[in-house]
Amino acid sequence: MRIVCSESSRLHRTPQGHPESIARYASVMDALANAGLLAGGSAVPGGDIEVVQARAATKEELASVHKPEYVGRIERFCVAGGGALDPDTHAVPESWEAALKAAGACVQGVEYVLGQADSKVRTAFCVVRPPGHHARPAAPKGFCLFNNVAVGAAVAIQRFGAERVLIVDWDLHHGNGTQEIFYEDPRVFYFSMHRWPFWPGTGSAAETGRGAGKGFTLNLPLAAGTTRGEIRRRFREALEEIAARFAPRLILISAGFDMHRADPLGGLSLEAEDYSEMTYELAELFLKMGCAGVVSSLEGGYDLAALGSSAVAHAKALLSLNAPRA
Ligand SMILES: [Zn+2]
Repeated sequence: MRIVCSESSRLHRTPQGHPESIARYASVMDALANAGLLAGGSAVPGGDIEVVQARAATKEELASVHKPEYVGRIERFCVAGGGALDPDTHAVPESWEAALKAAGACVQGVEYVLGQADSKVRTAFCVVRPPGHHARPAAPKGFCLFNNVAVGAAVAIQRFGAERVLIVDWDLHHGNGTQEIFYEDPRVFYFSMHRWPFWPGTGSAAETGRGAGKGFTLNLPLAAGTTRGEIRRRFREALEEIAARFAPRLILISAGFDMHRADPLGGLSLEAEDYSEMTYELAELFLKMGCAGVVSSLEGGYDLAALGSSAVAHAKALLSLNAPRA
């Protein structure tokens, strides 16, 4: 397993009191360190972790899902000093490097899993910010500058010939940007479970794709207050529905942890161990169908303690899934 992180994530500052703060990155990295996961993974039997620094995504990689003019606009905005891109989404000069590396981390994860035929790396966890799933082809949104997971999916298809990529987005919020990018593309199955109706407004069950992509988007809207058991049951059912008609070569996870019970933006009630169990359910189902591995990328999660414990539970599951199968 690889943990792909970036010191640049510590420098993408947001205004005082903003929920998507530099403290989020520190809380995940500290929790991973305290769990022994940054020191070779000895805390988990058979654990084998390498921690690597993310590289920057190239402009060509970003242009696989974003308009080149948009990439240039974000660069100029950051270099000129930054500020508010919209009422939610902010940047400082250092945000440019952080955003490039947040997207680059996902590409790197894809390279580890798909890059060599004999790769022993089956799982990667990208601990980076800014998050990505709200970013649209030519617009920032919801704390996101570039769509990290979408860039990873595009590289998996274009460079590594992955015919089918499954994106699982269990962030509290619907990944409007990811859905929009692949809405007409049957090579990418986008599955999101999210609170609904809720910000950003997209993600009804009726949104299922368009044209050649019809049937390759699956939204699982959850009303506020949906119980933990019900969320887990509906998640499993959705995975089975996907597995019946789509055998992915690669899974990407938009790993937001804001469905945790303690999350201040949430209204739902998962516990840290749910993120571990959902990781197993997902990976075990598709790995036996020939999927090469799982690349997970941090999205939301705004209670610092819950974010840390959930990320550790998720990372431990990814680590044990990386172990060679008998
Ligand atoms: Zn979220």
